[in-house]
Amino acid sequence: AAQLMAGKKGLVMGVANERSIAWGIAKACHDQGAEVAFTFQGEALEKRVRPLAGSIGAKIIEPCDVTNPASIDAVFAKLEKEWGKLDFVVHAIAFSNKDELRGRYLDTTSDNFNLTMNVSVYSFTAVSQRAVPLMKEGGSLLTLTYYGAERVIPHYNVMGVAKAALEASVRYLAADLGEQKIRVNAISAGPIKTLAFAGINDGRYILKWNELNSPLKRNVTTEEVGNAGLYLLSDLGTGVTGEVMHVDAGYHVVGMINTSSAKQ
Ligand code: NAD
Repeated sequence: AAQLMAGKKGLVMGVANERSIAWGIAKACHDQGAEVAFTFQGEALEKRVRPLAGSIGAKIIEPCDVTNPASIDAVFAKLEKEWGKLDFVVHAIAFSNKDELRGRYLDTTSDNFNLTMNVSVYSFTAVSQRAVPLMKEGGSLLTLTYYGAERVIPHYNVMGVAKAALEASVRYLAADLGEQKIRVNAISAGPIKTLAFAGINDGRYILKWNELNSPLKRNVTTEEVGNAGLYLLSDLGTGVTGEVMHVDAGYHVVGMINTSSAKQ
């Protein structure tokens, strides 16, 4: 059968290790014939990312810290030079000071609020600005969000506020870029044990809660998020833009769990 991503070239930002959601999406796209470029944040992660990226034949593996606009410019200059075009971008980047991913949202500091918004929200727009000129025949931009944007999740705090802004920016970018056949979507993933997730207080309890209360009675895997990403990034998703798609074992539809013994 023809591969869904044959001939497509994409940038994946946010791989830290093999558990990263970005890696799940990169693999799903590669398995369907995409050529994937990667960015990594800093030397410590370079050691992890290079072998992973190499294992799926990546040739473009560049450093990028999204707080430094020049480093984002450099990545896109490289893509322009090597590929001259771009079909998709995966933005799987978020950061907040760990000390504020516990306790009350009320205690958020101005400095960490601004840092969280810059890294976790603005960077998606900054990346989109640079990707658009390379997407001459259209394209697909994808970011990652979480249910803490919609409802209060203990300890998610400023990150929940940032994800709400990220989801709104998906809608505004989708409206701006539709005429250029560029689609912009987010996946709202259920909790997954990754490096970033380890920064959230009480993470184990959140995982357990999701497992017990979601319709599928389990947590989702990076492979499942990867496959959903493949749908949005490939031509299977050409009718979809401005969407926040939940890949969370259905958790977001549950208002109250039915514990009654008389279920039928
Ligand atoms: P991860 O730790 O594997 O990935 C987070 C990535 O963000 C890392 O690669 C890190 O290097 C990068 N990053 C942070 N600050 C950066 C900066 N200044 N410049 C460049 N890169 C930077 O964890 P993950 O869970 O795969 O996270 C990916 C995305 O998925 C995040 O947006 C996260 O909020 C979102 N998400 C995660 C979950 C979950 O439960 N793990 C659920 C829903 C959404």
